Parts: sequence; C-alpha cells; structure tokens
Amino acid sequence: MSTGHDNHRLFHRHVAQTSPNPLGLEIVKAEGVYLYDRNGKEYLDLIGGISVCNTGHRHPRVVEAINEQTGRYLHLLVYGELIQTPQVQYAASLASHLPESLDSVYFTNSGAEATEGAMKLAKRLTGRTEIVAFNKSYHGSTQGALSIMGDEYWRNAFRPLLPGIHHVEYNSPEALDAITDRTACVIAETVQAERGVFAPDRVWLRQLRQRCDDTGALLVLDEIQTGFGRTGTLWGFQAYDVIPDVVLLGKALGGGLPMGAFIASRQRMWSLTGDPVLGHITTFGGHPLCCAAGHASLQVLLESGWIEEVSRKEALFRRLLVHPAIKEVRTCGLLIAVEYESFEQNKRVIDACIAAGLLTDWYLFAPHCLRIAPPLSITDAQIEKACATILSSSDFFH
Ligand code: PLP
Repeated sequence: MSTGHDNHRLFHRHVAQTSPNPLGLEIVKAEGVYLYDRNGKEYLDLIGGISVCNTGHRHPRVVEAINEQTGRYLHLLVYGELIQTPQVQYAASLASHLPESLDSVYFTNSGAEATEGAMKLAKRLTGRTEIVAFNKSYHGSTQGALSIMGDEYWRNAFRPLLPGIHHVEYNSPEALDAITDRTACVIAETVQAERGVFAPDRVWLRQLRQRCDDTGALLVLDEIQTGFGRTGTLWGFQAYDVIPDVVLLGKALGGGLPMGAFIASRQRMWSLTGDPVLGHITTFGGHPLCCAAGHASLQVLLESGWIEEVSRKEALFRRLLVHPAIKEVRTCGLLIAVEYESFEQNKRVIDACIAAGLLTDWYLFAPHCLRIAPPLSITDAQIEKACATILSSSDFFH
C-alpha cells in the first residue's frame, strides 16, 4: 500500500505539472462541502472544484445514478451513433429547462471542446470567419479557445493562433461597433468569472443581442461557470432577458464527472450533418456515465430549493466579508471575488485559509482576488465559519 510520502514523490515525479509550486494536498475523500486529507484533516471546499460541485461532492443520488449506469454499460461507440438512454434523457431534460430555441444538445468532453464546437458551428452556419470576443474572458485552453481568450499574457506564447479574432472591452459601446456582417459569432461569458466576477450591464447585453440580430452574427453565451444555479437562476442569462443562439455548458453539467455541451436550435445543429458529414467528432463526449451523473445532479438541484437560496446566501457573504484589508467584494450569486491590494496579500490570505481548513484560490485574470464558488448546498453556519476564517487570515495586514 502506498504511503502519503510515496504519493507526494510520485506526484512531483510523474504527474505533469503546470505550476512550479502546486498545492499538493492529498485528498482521500470528499463528501458534501468537505474534503478530507490523508491525516483526516477536514477542508471546507469554498470553490467547489472551481464551480463544478454545485450539488456538493458525491451527492448520494449522483453516486446511485453512477452505480446504476455502471451495472448497464460504459462506453459503447462514438458520440451520436447509438441511442444511449442517459444521454437522450439528459439532453431532453436540459432542453426542457432552456428556452425553446435551445433544444439540441451536442455533448463534449469539456468546456473548451464546447467552445470549439460553437465556433465551428457559427462558421459553418454563417459562412463567415471573424469572431468577436472579450478582454479578460476565459473559454478554455485549447488552440481555438485560447485564440478568443482575452489576455495577451496567457495567449502570446502559443501563437500563431486563429486569425480574425477581435478582442473588445466587455460592457463597452466599442464592442457593438466591432460586430459587422463579417462576424460569425460573438462569444461572451454571461458573467466574466476569471476577471474577478464582472457582471454585464443589462442594457448593454440587450444591445449586444440586438446588434447580433442586425448583422446576422450568432450570440454565444458561455455559461460554463455561471450555469446550474451559480448566479441565482438556473442559467445566468435568465436574469438579463436575453436568449443566446448558442449556449455553452460545462463544469457542473457532469455532476462531478467531466463533460461539456454546446446547445443550439435543432435547425442550426443540423448543419453539422452535411458537407462534410460529421461536422464535429468526439469519441467520449456524452459518455453515458457522465450523462447519468449530470442528469441526477440537475434533478437534485431543481428539487433541493438551493437555487432559490443563492441570493440570501450571497447577501450573507456580503454582510460578513468586511475587513480593512478587503478592498471590494464583487458577487453574482455564489460566484464571489474578494479583492485585496495585491496578489502577494491575497496569496498569504489563501495560504492561511488552507492551513485553517478552508480551501480557496485566486482568479486567473485577477490574482489579487480570492475565489468563492462553493457548493450551493453550503449552509449559513458554514458560510459564517468560512467568512470568520477569511477575516482572521486577513489580519496579517492590519
Ligand atoms: N469557459 C469558462 C467560463 C470557464 O470558466 C472554463 C473553465 O474554467 C472553460 C470555459 C473551459 O472549461 P474546461 O476547463 O472544461 O475546458
């Protein structure tokens, strides 16, 4: 049997690393809002696996659905050939909870692949090649998704990237002007998460929708982080009275298993069937186990009443997170950024929180902001405890 020391060494020796100093905690169990390390230390998961575990870790109904599906079949054949009950049921269920025009679901392996699929669909449908994307937006790390990522530091080393991408400022009038009859699609996060939680202006988002209609560009909204109740409604766009032409889902979509999706009208999706046939190909997208888990998780979310409690819990976080070292708290439901003076300050707070059993992190384009995106099942008492830990960890500076 391996020891903690062995695994630590093997992690550094054989698991590819993407940062010089990974957290390197060895978690041996997770349940609800808690993670447990090898020594039995408990961590309250304030980031929910980065907006994935909206119904908590290993919800019993999700585990049951996985076990039932395991008893039937796992992988059968590439996406789209066979009728697989969990896939069909989940697609129908998602369609029934989305606007009528979003009724055809293409399941992918990840959020990034969903982004790729949506870009291809928009090019195919419009015959155009240009894409309008936003500064400080994140849509995934593959070459296409990286091309529309809104930050030069993160993209530059991987050039050449896709041509014809226009990056513009979110919430700005210049964004509207950048959309022309050469634009295949506009891709925006409904709320810019990795920028450190920036919500769209209501009027601007409607103008963006209108400008897309006027020019024939598709509006793609990335709900990979904002979907599944995170912002207080099932889908983030519901709060803005705007319906996208294509919606991107991921993260919480799989109930803790890996999955993404791009969703459009059946008529639009049909364009992937010809010239060439197989307009997007994936072996594992829509895997039956992921669909079974995701569907069970969606049902739990809808029956639990947790989405209805998001605004109240958001207000509790806002009320409690007051400290001289905290410059600003930006919230959009249970997607929260706590802003400090610098990355160094934030990192010290994060490290102190983790040492005290509270798992948190920073945002990609806002390293001075502490990330809060817990399971929606988090209780008031757990919120109070988490905030007390953040405040005492912030005392370094005052
Ligand atoms: N879009 C948004 C808004 C995201 O936050 C992410 C992941 O963090 C992605 C896309 C990419 O998803 P994945 O990591 O599953 O490829």
